[in-house]
Amino acid sequence: MKHIDVLYITSTAYSGSTILGFIVGSSPQIFNAGELQYFNIIQKKDEMCTCGVFSQQCPFWSNIYNNKYTIYRNPSFLERLKISLYILIKKKVTPDIIENSPEYTLLHNIFKDAITYKPETKYIIDNSKSLWRLIHLMKCRGINLKVIFIKRNIFGNIGSFVKHRKGFWRGLFRYFTMNYFIKRLLINNNINYIIINYNNLCNHPDMEIGKIEKLFKIKIKEYINKLNLKNTHVATGNMGTRQSLDNYKGLYPDDSWKEQLSLFQKIVLKIIKPISNQ
Ligand SMILES: [Zn+2]
Repeated sequence: MKHIDVLYITSTAYSGSTILGFIVGSSPQIFNAGELQYFNIIQKKDEMCTCGVFSQQCPFWSNIYNNKYTIYRNPSFLERLKISLYILIKKKVTPDIIENSPEYTLLHNIFKDAITYKPETKYIIDNSKSLWRLIHLMKCRGINLKVIFIKRNIFGNIGSFVKHRKGFWRGLFRYFTMNYFIKRLLINNNINYIIINYNNLCNHPDMEIGKIEKLFKIKIKEYINKLNLKNTHVATGNMGTRQSLDNYKGLYPDDSWKEQLSLFQKIVLKIIKPISNQ
């Protein structure tokens, strides 16, 4: 079995993972396959691909869809509780290695097609973010995982939850639980990972990208400014993402939380902030 090298991007929602995926994916050594956790849905629903056509007509994805894969979806509520408890008591992910998983077949075929499209491809990006999918991939035989964990400052992150009408308290709950569990999981299992801070990425992109280049032995910096959506194949239904990337002119620190958050919310975050920097 040929091993497939996967760069898995994990984070809480609205942490800048999508843009990071495109930045890292601008390297000729990386193929950004987007959020594969939505593969089953997108395969049926026919979303727009970043190359400019619907995914069923996309020269990259239409070929993959011919195989009719159904890949892993989120676990049930009880299963999530069980996994969370395992992580809390610092237990390693159960070693029940899954042979011939649909995940492996899908990633293997993406890799095969990516090579014809980008001949230097070393890694496939799975930008699913989900902790549950990350755990599942850890169990699948044939997948070499490297993880980028992107974290955003609490004000910017919760501000985005509010901006997208997902709720302040829900955002706060997600921010603490996801960031905590992801970190614990990575430490408990000796995974090769790197933590990228979104705010640092915006203020000093060369430094943060340099860390990724060094750890994974890839070249990214020199390609960032050549980022062109038409040369990528990420099927996404999110129009907001497409529009912001279409107008991409480099990273800039996002201060929109100052308008999104109420005074009360800002005070709450200011009080909580010290414990968010674990
Ligand atoms: Zn495409």
